[in-house]
Amino acid sequence: MPSEFDLIRRHFTRPARHTELAVGDDAALLAPRPGMRLAVSTDMLVAGTHFFADTNPEGLGWKTLAVNVSDLAAMGAEPRWAFLALALPQADEAWIAAFARGFFACADAFAIDLAGGDTTRGPLTLSVTIVGEVPAGAAITRGGARAGDDLWISGQPGRAALGLAALRGETGLDAIHHAEFVDALQRPQPRVALGLALRSLASAMLDVSDGLLGDLRHLLECSGTGAIVEVAALPLAALAASGADPALCRRCLLAGGDDYELLFAAAPRHRAEIDALSARLDLPLHRIGEFTPARERLLLREADGGLAAPAACGYDHFA
Ligand code: ADP
Ligand code: MG
Repeated sequence: MPSEFDLIRRHFTRPARHTELAVGDDAALLAPRPGMRLAVSTDMLVAGTHFFADTNPEGLGWKTLAVNVSDLAAMGAEPRWAFLALALPQADEAWIAAFARGFFACADAFAIDLAGGDTTRGPLTLSVTIVGEVPAGAAITRGGARAGDDLWISGQPGRAALGLAALRGETGLDAIHHAEFVDALQRPQPRVALGLALRSLASAMLDVSDGLLGDLRHLLECSGTGAIVEVAALPLAALAASGADPALCRRCLLAGGDDYELLFAAAPRHRAEIDALSARLDLPLHRIGEFTPARERLLLREADGGLAAPAACGYDHFA
């Protein structure tokens, strides 16, 4: 039976790229660059709540870090350091090695040092604290949207929820979309390059982890604005092409979780720059509505022009 220290040394100790002192001492020493603020966020994934306990460990390793990276992307911050707290039911080395492979694949993709953590026995729980840098005054918060701003969403929201529905046997997808949507669920791609590029363009931003409309409400609360979402502008066609029921596609797009796309506000004068950014990053950016003065009032404009409030919350209510 390997000791806790063997496990840490074997699986979670890698050469640090930009950390004065990383794994192995009582605390890590981080040296932020001059003029930078530290952006810090923690996210926890619990077996049975956030993932199936039998989930592929390599994908889980990727996702555990990726969801934290996404939080920093949503601030316009650059991820630099991560801390990993693990509770494991047993020291299953094959499982831990695969988990570490996925975790470090994500760390390498975004040049993040694993600078420390904690390892203990317990019900499978994975918690990451991520630390990034953003120039003083440049962070994009949830509170800056103004009436008249455009509402944008990146990528293809709804894929992860459709992937989950497919895994649960709740919907049929053709083989290509099945693979794509399950991959979106298990290996989300945090939008770091987009987040950094939007520092000078977006007035407010967050990442969509709990569903587009639900997370949009957070933006409205923090900014003190309302919004109208144009149903005709939603990227529904690519989901509908998967063979899934169109009503389910709409629900997944509007209310499905786990996409980690960026939802942001930007003044209309930035439209051309945002379109150019979309081309440069090879990432679709959809302008799906606008912010209004009506405090926290969220409305959907249907393709026929009808305006209606979506139900308060809940996956099923947006059909
Ligand atoms: P302490 O008893 O002082 O809390 P630990 O034995 O918990 O120290 O950890 C020893 C070192 O290993 C520390 O530098 C800690 O940050 C690091 N560490 C522990 N678990 C992990 C992990 N899962 N990933 C990365 N570093 C870890
Ligand atoms: Mg400890």
